[in-house]
Formats: sequence, structure tokens, C-alpha cells
Amino acid sequence: MRMLRDVLWNLFKGRATVMYPEERGSPPDNFRGRLGFNRDECIGCGLCHRVCPASAIEMENDGRGARPVFHIERCIYCYLCIEVCPTKAIKPGKEYAVVTSRKSDLVVR
Ligand code: SF4
Ligand code: SF4
Repeated sequence: MRMLRDVLWNLFKGRATVMYPEERGSPPDNFRGRLGFNRDECIGCGLCHRVCPASAIEMENDGRGARPVFHIERCIYCYLCIEVCPTKAIKPGKEYAVVTSRKSDLVVR
């Protein structure tokens, strides 16, 4: 009898899961997602490159000076680069769907 009650309960109660990717939940406030970067705020100090534990940041010269290039496929979302950046040029993000078939989509300049 109890089993029948449980079956009926589970048949008619609302869904407990999200139908990803058609439905996407909102990450919590302290969620660490894909990084953003504002080149105009960067002074090219290279601190982010030095602290990154995953070697996800390379420095390159873009004609205006040194700047970091972020390889998201290597990023472990520790956010040390954001903490150390003196100009707040690196921005925290909420994007969590970073899977792609093109590697270039995982490069942030
Ligand atoms: S969040 Fe961490 S792993 Fe990702 S780029 Fe910044 S320092 Fe490197
Ligand atoms: S720490 Fe900030 S200012 Fe320095 S190179 Fe990285 S992004 Fe640019």
C-alpha cells in the first residue's frame, strides 16, 4: 500500500530536475564562471599571468603593449587573477556553459 502511495506521489509531483539546455537555472551569487576581460583597463603588469596556478594565462603583445590571453579550457576558476589585478580589468562571470567544438571559443582576449 505504501509503495502504491509513493508511486502515485512521484507520478503527480512536479519535476525535480531542470531540462537542460532548454531550461537553464541561475547560478548562485557567489558562482565562479567564465572570466571576462577589458583590455582598456589592463596595464600589462603580468601579475595575473604570474599567479595563475593552471598556466591558463599567456602574455602577448597586441601592438599596444603586453596583455593577457586567457585559455578557458585550462582555467580552474580559482579567481586568483581577479584578486591580484590592480585595475580590475579581469571580470568575474556567471557563464557556466563553456563546452564548445571550437577551441577558439575558449580564448578570452
Ligand atoms: S581563475 Fe585561476 S585558473 Fe583561471 S585564469 Fe584566473 S588564475 Fe588562472
Ligand atoms: S593583472 Fe590585470 S592589469 Fe595586470 S596584466 Fe593582468 S589583467 Fe592586466
